[in-house]
Amino acid sequence: MSAPNKSYDPVEVEALKPEKIERMRDEALAAFAAAGDLEALAAAKVAHAGGASPLALANREIGALPPHAKAEAGKRVGQARGAVNKALAARQAELEAERDARVLVEEAVDVTLPYDRVPGGARHPLTTLSERIEDIFTAMGYEVAEGPEVESEWLNFDALNIAADHPARGEHDTFFVQGREADQDSGVVLRTHTSPVQVRSLLDREPPVYVICPGRVYRTDDLDATHTPVFHQVELLAVDEGLTMADLKGTLDHMVQALFGGEGMKTRLRPNFFPFTEPSAEMDMVCYVCRGESVGNPDRPCRTCSSEGWIELGGCGMVNPKVLVACGVDPAKYSGFAFGFGIERMLMFRHNVEDMRDMVEGDVRFTRPFGMEI
Ligand SMILES: [Zn+2]
Repeated sequence: MSAPNKSYDPVEVEALKPEKIERMRDEALAAFAAAGDLEALAAAKVAHAGGASPLALANREIGALPPHAKAEAGKRVGQARGAVNKALAARQAELEAERDARVLVEEAVDVTLPYDRVPGGARHPLTTLSERIEDIFTAMGYEVAEGPEVESEWLNFDALNIAADHPARGEHDTFFVQGREADQDSGVVLRTHTSPVQVRSLLDREPPVYVICPGRVYRTDDLDATHTPVFHQVELLAVDEGLTMADLKGTLDHMVQALFGGEGMKTRLRPNFFPFTEPSAEMDMVCYVCRGESVGNPDRPCRTCSSEGWIELGGCGMVNPKVLVACGVDPAKYSGFAFGFGIERMLMFRHNVEDMRDMVEGDVRFTRPFGMEI
């Protein structure tokens, strides 16, 4: 700092020369304009508007000037500092606005995004369909009965009037469980139908017996679009005094109405043969899509029933008296009816599933569209 001097001309003081002050101001303005963010601007502020900036140092020189020179020098430096502070404030506001706009974009929360990316599972449609069928019958007073999947040959065949030479006992249909020795007959099979549960129910209970038997069964089929070696059946058995085919027919009609809904849902019976029922019948239900109206009506073809009007459902009949005797039930006093069908097949025509393999391969993309039916 220079000492007071009467003959001192401020224009002669190096730091206070007008062109020097202008350059300091212009450098400050250029530095602020060049600052790309608030951090850079803070550094420029220290360098050009801080206590040790060239303009602040020049300001100090004013104090050493003679009184007549102070006003002019003070005005020059003051104007320069004013311009610098104004530019600083403007740039500060500009950069803050930029930062705020950027933060709004960068930190925006998209509330439409799924908050939980862990997919919720869904129960297998075979399970839910089976339970829906059970519900229809438990509402009518039936009891759900279950049995082992590894079953004795006697319960799986003999008690059901399936003689030892019946084709169903051949190797082609049945998985036999090997005995202790390779050539030993264990007398145990993987059950080929849920009918042994009917036998067990009759052996366990005194009539009247009303049971529904859902479960997994096994056949030595290869897995393809229409076969699987493991599939699901549901069978029903009613044994009471005075039961007739009319009771069977009414029960079937009620089931298809409860499952497929609406008016006009009914069943029909076609004669057939099963060893464990007499008489026996194939049961068909009217097509739930066209209600039979596609028959003979080429203008309204139906894919579901191939315009036949009926869909084959399963087998049924009056319980063969030989089965009642095998289970210790007096056929002179009691009669019964039974029916059974495959859940996979029903799922296929009920939901237009074209390939049975989809049901067993465990791909959630197959099960998820059925929803979380409880
Ligand atoms: Zn149809």
